[in-house]
Amino acid sequence: APVTTDMKTLTAEIEKFAKDKKVEIDTLRIREEYRKEFLGNVSHELKTPLFTVQGYIHTLLDGAMEDKKVRKKYLQRAAKGVDRLIYIIKDLDLITKLEIGDLHLEVSDFDIIELISNVFDLLEMKAAKKGIALVFDMDYPKPIYVRGDKEKIQQVLTNLVVNSIKYGSQDGTTEVSVENLIKNKVIVRVTDNGEGIAEEHLTRLFERFYRVDKSGSRKEGGSGLGLAIVKHIIEAHNEKIYVESVIDVGSEFSFTLEKSK
Ligand code: ADP
Repeated sequence: APVTTDMKTLTAEIEKFAKDKKVEIDTLRIREEYRKEFLGNVSHELKTPLFTVQGYIHTLLDGAMEDKKVRKKYLQRAAKGVDRLIYIIKDLDLITKLEIGDLHLEVSDFDIIELISNVFDLLEMKAAKKGIALVFDMDYPKPIYVRGDKEKIQQVLTNLVVNSIKYGSQDGTTEVSVENLIKNKVIVRVTDNGEGIAEEHLTRLFERFYRVDKSGSRKEGGSGLGLAIVKHIIEAHNEKIYVESVIDVGSEFSFTLEKSK
């Protein structure tokens, strides 16, 4: 049957069509910008460690190889640069998967206290190098069972504790606590007494590659993706992440988790 329609409806339809198309084009344009920015960031992040490795290898080839001591030192530094490249690429791989939603959660019930204790064990040496103590804010830690992807939550805790060490003050403290929030939720807090973050940065902190102090944190050797990864993982769990910070006093990052039934 022929579709009869009055001029007004037709005009409205055409306008809607045009608007949808414009939205589509705008979306594509934003995506394209996003892609370009991402690629720009990636090559920038990879450049520094690559130039470092290149520098040491060329110096070795240009004659530094003759000296046994120098040879070892330069090879160790080049190896460190390669380790760093691999670390950045692993983070890039993870963030890409998280951003395209290609990451499913393997949910189980696990003891969050035990997980924190594992993370402490793994990072104790790193903390000790800076004289930082990793402490539990609990007299007698008892198991607290939560529901989530254990490996991913371990990654969240690791990233937060690593940051608290990197940006914490020499001989400072990183404190982790778990508290009941509302009936079926707990909140995990990671607190340091380090350099802190100025308020104007707090809203942008979880963007990938965002850094407060461009040179300072690159020296610390991160990928600039740690907090973006943390946010994605927490949001994939339908949970929330918070940050509070005061310059020269310290920072507190906290996130919620569902208690197991
Ligand atoms: P990276 O540490 O690799 O630079 P992140 O995404 O983990 O990247 O952190 C982003 C930025 O947030 C850091 O460069 C740093 O400026 C700031 N930041 C993160 N954690 C802390 C903290 N605990 N104290 C102070 N600043 C922090």
